Formats: sequence, structure tokens, C-alpha cells
Amino acid sequence: MRILVTNDDGVYSDGLWSLAAALNEIGKVSVVAPDRDMSGIGTAMTLLSVLRTEDIQSPIDGVDAIAVQGTPADCVILALESLFEHPFDLCVSGVNHGANLGLDIVSSGTVGAAMQSYLRGVPSIAVSVASLTEVVFDVASLTASVLSKRLLGKDYAETPFINVNLPNGTKQNIKGVRVTRLGPRAYLESVTEAHDGRRTHYWIKHDRMVGADAGKNTDIWAVRNGWISISSIDWGQVDRNQALWLNDMAHLVADELNVDAVSFETMSG
Ligand code: MN
Repeated sequence: MRILVTNDDGVYSDGLWSLAAALNEIGKVSVVAPDRDMSGIGTAMTLLSVLRTEDIQSPIDGVDAIAVQGTPADCVILALESLFEHPFDLCVSGVNHGANLGLDIVSSGTVGAAMQSYLRGVPSIAVSVASLTEVVFDVASLTASVLSKRLLGKDYAETPFINVNLPNGTKQNIKGVRVTRLGPRAYLESVTEAHDGRRTHYWIKHDRMVGADAGKNTDIWAVRNGWISISSIDWGQVDRNQALWLNDMAHLVADELNVDAVSFETMSG
């Protein structure tokens, strides 16, 4: 099984290599990632200039790694359309440092990368940890590997596209696993204005926490209350078939971590 691993934090980020190491246990991993931090770039792709790539030294035996001077979406497009002779069975993007919840996913490079593989019929997972400091990646990588194993082992009627978010911390900090819907915005932007002596400049920060009213069935509520959130990104209603396989996945992860799972049908609020 061939697994494409990418991210938006850049090819040298710890979360990427934690994920690649975990997935290397279940398939042949190729890493194709931006050569720098591209967080917040969303689904953007480079159409107005050429893209260059560079083979880089992988810290994991048997895993090849390519840095792209482009966006996360560019990385996946190149990987699936040009860089490799063979197709991929799965694409996993992450592990991102910082949450990608609710409608914020439209500006997420982590999700933007996985979108390109999903659009090409490759089962795709985006994985994020909801912290910007002292991020613990191993529970997220373990979760991604449990989900990946399942996706690789089964046929699905529609291409799965899953957004996973975890509260930061060790297994002991995790309350359980919930299948969720994407919530409203989780963060809005603030702007800092300053003067350099001649001109005014601005700094946009994606740091204003909102979504306090997000319902109990949303990813925002789940992660803020200590649960791992598994959402299907299908831009519509989750149908019964999808709910079944999402519930199956939540239970798999919960069994692995020895925590509770909350299924789709039993959720309220
Ligand atoms: Mn990022």
C-alpha cells in the first residue's frame, strides 16, 4: 500500500515526521511537503509561476522525501499527477500544529492538501492537534495510523475525506472519540496595526477564539471539551452509510486508546 504524506507546516516540521513514522508501519510512505511553513494558505495552488522540487534527506529509512517550493495543494497535485509512476492508496496531511475546526477549514493548508487527493479519488485524512505550543504529536499519529489501516483495508462507496482534530496532550488527557459535524467558525482574525516611521503596516493573526455557541455535535465543542473529533468533509448531510463507517472508525480509535466513543446517531445538541 502506498501512502502519500504531506502537511502545511513545512517539510521540516516534527508533526510531519511523527506521522510518517507511524504510517511507515502500515505501508510504503512518500513525503511530499512544502519547503517552508504554508499555514493558512488553504486550497491555493500555484498557476502563475513554475514549481521546483528538491529531494531531501529523510530521517526515516525507506521513506523518500521531496520538498516543493509551493503550497500544500501544489505538493499533492505534483505527487499524484507527475512525481511518481504509481498511484497512491491513501493521502494523510499533518500532523498540523494548531486546530483545523469548523468552517476554518476553508483557510487550512492541511485540509487544502488533503482536498486535492480527495478530488482525485484517493481516500484522504487531515490531522491536527489543537495547540500551538508544546504540541504532543504521538496520539495524533497513532490515531491517524488506526484510521489509515481501516481505510486501506476496506472499500467505500464514496471516497472518504476525514478531518481529525485532537486536544493536545497524552492519552490520559483524552476523554474519548466523537464523530462530529463541522461547526461554525472556531477562530476569527485580529489585526495589529503599527508604524515603521514612514508607513503603516498590518499583521493578521488567526487568534480570536469564537464558536462558544457551537453545539455538542460539532468538532469545535468536542475538541474544546477534551475529545478527539472525527468529521467527514462532504459539504452536505452525512448519510446513514457514512455515519456507519464514521462510527466504526471512532470505535477503532477509542479501543486503541482505551477510551469511550460517541457515535453519530446517539449525539444530541
Ligand atoms: Mn499549519
